[in-house]
Amino acid sequence: MKAASIANPSVLNQPVYEPGKPIEDVARELGLDPKSIIKLASNENPLGPSPMATAAARNAIADGQLYPDGGCFRLRHKLALRLECPPEQVVVGNGSNELLELLGHVFLRPGDEAVMGTPAFIVYKLVTLLFGAKPVEVPMVHHTHDLKAMAKAITPQTKLVFLACPNNPTGTANSASDILAFARDLPPHVVLVYDEAYAEYVDNPPDLRPLIREGRKIVCLRTFSKIYGLAAFRVGYGYTTNEIAGLLQRVRQPFNVNAIGQAAALAALEDESFVHHSVETNRKGLRQLEAGFKALKLEWVPSVGNFILVKVGNGAKAFDLLQRRGVITRPVGSYGLPEWLRITVGTPEQNERLLKDLGAILERL
Ligand code: PMP
Repeated sequence: MKAASIANPSVLNQPVYEPGKPIEDVARELGLDPKSIIKLASNENPLGPSPMATAAARNAIADGQLYPDGGCFRLRHKLALRLECPPEQVVVGNGSNELLELLGHVFLRPGDEAVMGTPAFIVYKLVTLLFGAKPVEVPMVHHTHDLKAMAKAITPQTKLVFLACPNNPTGTANSASDILAFARDLPPHVVLVYDEAYAEYVDNPPDLRPLIREGRKIVCLRTFSKIYGLAAFRVGYGYTTNEIAGLLQRVRQPFNVNAIGQAAALAALEDESFVHHSVETNRKGLRQLEAGFKALKLEWVPSVGNFILVKVGNGAKAFDLLQRRGVITRPVGSYGLPEWLRITVGTPEQNERLLKDLGAILERL
């Protein structure tokens, strides 16, 4: 008897998340030296983590026999101080991906609906399907969330509305006033999941805290995986109303965030100059890539994140040819963008190499 025959049928239909290719995999498959490979596929920080974060992580290893603080007391308090909210309103997760799943645990049941843009971060759809709910995907206009159409897509069955600013994979952002108006006008039976994974790269990103203070059902999600360069440590957080934070706390694992990640995240928050340097490096990198795409006569979608969509004609082939040259990018055919590639902004040297290799393969696309 196959185990699948007794499995929850929704698991059998569940699509599988395809991550950016790890450097080690590409090196093994293509017989390349891992040191010669650059990864511009997962929107990681090309500067690495802050040295203060790695030092704190190293120190934390010495207490590896102890369970972590499951409540993330210090990290929650430090985040709350910065967010100017009570610590009870902050929930820490194993990456913001875990918080997305916890939202599914709390709010989604078969028959429910979740509204999201398309193309948006695929995990919104995966979580919705995982809990047997229906993803209601609203096409973007000019690669940007169509907030009016999203508001219209809300039905009595809608429980969650997902909105990212900047959005992944498009790198676009709706205006702050549009987002605040959208959030304010949502009916009381839906929760807005406002994903700020890349907000630190944006000047004056929309601030939804006043709406949370008014008691509106909004969960803002942030991560240490992007600007803080701590993707390997898996630390993300949400801030929301006391009530929703309490619900999320009920469904998490007792020790969902490991002690080394907590220590690294705490230290990373201290290193403001690293964050500033990362923002500046990204800003210059975006300009460098745009200038390069222009020289190659390629169309791109202006981005405010740490990645950019470029139209190469055949995204899957470009991905493959670049990978053979040791440059890992992200094909976005699964996001309905088969002609495009998503490229993470790298260091100046990495960007230069990407542009050179892209120029070299263009005529084969
Ligand atoms: N939201 C968005 C928009 C993302 O792009 C990502 C990472 N790709 C995440 C959330 C999840 O990040 P993490 O789980 O590493 O915090």
